Amino acid sequence: MARDAGPDPASGRRSGERAGEKKAPAGAGWPGVGPQLAGRLAKLDLRAPRDLLLHLPLRYEDETRLTAIAAARPGFSAQVEGEVERCEISPRPRRQLVAHLRDASGTLVARWLHFYPSHQKLLAPGRRVRLFGEVRGGFFGMEMVHPRVHPVEAGEALPEALTPVYPTTAGLGQATLRKLIDRALASEPLDEWLPEDARRDLDLPTFAEAVRLLHHPPPEVPASVLEDRQHPAWRRIKFEELLAQQISLRRAYLARRAKRAPRLEGDGSLRRALLAGLPFVLTGAQRRAADEIGADLRVPHPMQRLLMGDVGSGKTIVAALAMLQAVEAGHQAALMAPTEILAEQHWQKLAAWLKPLGLEVAWLAGSRGKRARAAELERLASGELVLAVGTHALIEDPVALPRLGLAVVDEQHRFGVRQRLALREKGSEGADGPHLLMMSATPIPRTLAMSHYADLDVSVLDELPPGRSPVLTKLVSDARRDEVVARVRDGCLEGRQAYWVCPLIEESEALQLQTAQDTYAALCEALPELRIGLVHGRLKAAEKSATMAAFAAGEIHLLVATTVIEVGVDVPNASLMVIEHAERFGLAQLHQLRGRVGRGTAESVCILLYAQPLSQTGRERLKVIYEHRDGFAIAREDLRIRGPGEFIGARQSGLPLLRYADLEADVDLLEAARALGETLLREHPAAADALLARWLGGREGLLRA
Ligand code: ADP
Ligand code: MG
Repeated sequence: MARDAGPDPASGRRSGERAGEKKAPAGAGWPGVGPQLAGRLAKLDLRAPRDLLLHLPLRYEDETRLTAIAAARPGFSAQVEGEVERCEISPRPRRQLVAHLRDASGTLVARWLHFYPSHQKLLAPGRRVRLFGEVRGGFFGMEMVHPRVHPVEAGEALPEALTPVYPTTAGLGQATLRKLIDRALASEPLDEWLPEDARRDLDLPTFAEAVRLLHHPPPEVPASVLEDRQHPAWRRIKFEELLAQQISLRRAYLARRAKRAPRLEGDGSLRRALLAGLPFVLTGAQRRAADEIGADLRVPHPMQRLLMGDVGSGKTIVAALAMLQAVEAGHQAALMAPTEILAEQHWQKLAAWLKPLGLEVAWLAGSRGKRARAAELERLASGELVLAVGTHALIEDPVALPRLGLAVVDEQHRFGVRQRLALREKGSEGADGPHLLMMSATPIPRTLAMSHYADLDVSVLDELPPGRSPVLTKLVSDARRDEVVARVRDGCLEGRQAYWVCPLIEESEALQLQTAQDTYAALCEALPELRIGLVHGRLKAAEKSATMAAFAAGEIHLLVATTVIEVGVDVPNASLMVIEHAERFGLAQLHQLRGRVGRGTAESVCILLYAQPLSQTGRERLKVIYEHRDGFAIAREDLRIRGPGEFIGARQSGLPLLRYADLEADVDLLEAARALGETLLREHPAAADALLARWLGGREGLLRA
């Protein structure tokens, strides 16, 4: 899968924001900033003085007070002032500069492992200096390692404000950042773009007041109040950030409504025929979603709708109905899935459903023979075939879908922005693109839906088809693996089928493969009386699908698998699942895997084998998956544990992340920003533009994906 953005793992925030952006040459038109400095600033996404205004302190250091050396406590930061008694380079245990400082109360040792001649000059015996750093109890008494040092005159006044500490990068010192930021504060306009009444209702300071205060807090504001980010100045910044996000999403939404897509009216004949042939009736939720999608398709603007429903909620049939509406209207429809196994299952299901209606479905996957593919491509290009299912081969191949009216993307979060965009490039003449239906079994918590996904319309399948039995989840230490193996034997000999999910090894595909083969060999040896199959990502597609078919037909008792079975696999007779090293899997993954069982009427069991010792998050995740069945509840917990950047998968989503606002803590601000965003766009478009420029500076293009 293509990687879209190159997020900076070190910065931990803002990653993914800049994906796809054309970078201005660093430092261009930035007076007083040379190319080297500009390069370092660019690493922090600081490309113009204006960006510095919003480069806000991580925390503050209190240099407004001095601590007597004798009163300094180990483990705390302190500022001490005194005279240098001696200073020398000590070769052992590692070359370092060691200075001894004395004040009226005692002495303290300071060490620098990295130092310059200028340090030595500063610390010449008899000089008076202030040191700021964390105090430790060392071998020779109190010490500081790498304290900040600066020379002072006796009796020199202390700073009156807290000292800001900024996020930075190698080679860029705090002092340089502070100087540049102070310059920006003096030179850049700090315009106010919030309407006066909105600002008053929310009880927020002006932008100018807020940024000045955060960069230079007055002495009476305690650092702790600023650091938990609930101070009105922080709330102002967070509100503005959320507001800019809402405006950009709303803009993207409006821009989409201005584009053209084919009007897919359809006479309902194919849809009626499909429903009449099904062995089940739609759930209420499925009917509602199908109606919402159907209404969107009749409008001549591209739909951008997310169909969200827990595993097993029946999204496929809803997609099939939408695809048939396109076909009834004389257009083509395509469905793209992230893995070949899943795509093939969709293809088989659709083909079986649609064959009685006289419709053939093209099957496009990377592994299909060139000749088979070429033939289907031709029939798609000529319009003879109107339906296609495939993996990303659908977009990577020179696939022509001249009358594409609807594109469906299953498990949309697994595709990159670019891949989704590519699908949209295809489509009918006279239209800007097809309608887009995305499906996901990973529910988006409400706050995320309101923020990062605000330009999508959403349909929810909040009801499972009848006849499903809840899955019993068990946590078992892998010291008891033998008992679990015995249980699998008994279950399978009674006519059940089981999955055994191999340990996840994310770091190395080769090791992952090895582990899968080892697990398979070990289980074959332990369970000679069972028929056992193995599927993993490196298997040839034909082998994979033969094994899956044998499992679906009941010819295999136990399917040993990597996470290739995670999405979409649907074998109702399988009612037992073992997941090895469950602690290594993410919550969404565990939920998806567990969703592979509990699809039939038999009581299903999912055994999570875990290895001791468990990490804190490993333990937390297992507790969540044990306690919750509902995908929404699990997603909420996942968001809580991992935070939004990880949750969305910034790498793939390409969505600009929030730098300061916290969706859970600031939900009141989010709601207010949503309301005001619409008003500003309608009544004060210039203010909306200015806010976008201040916060996103040209990065909005990505939101359109
Ligand atoms: P998912 O939302 O996880 O993609 P699927 O579309 O694969 O779910 O559906 C899961 C299973 O439920 C499939 O076997 C499907 O045929 C079946 N199914 C879908 N809708 C219904 C329904 N209304 N009643 C009974 N079974 C249904
Ligand atoms: Mg599915």
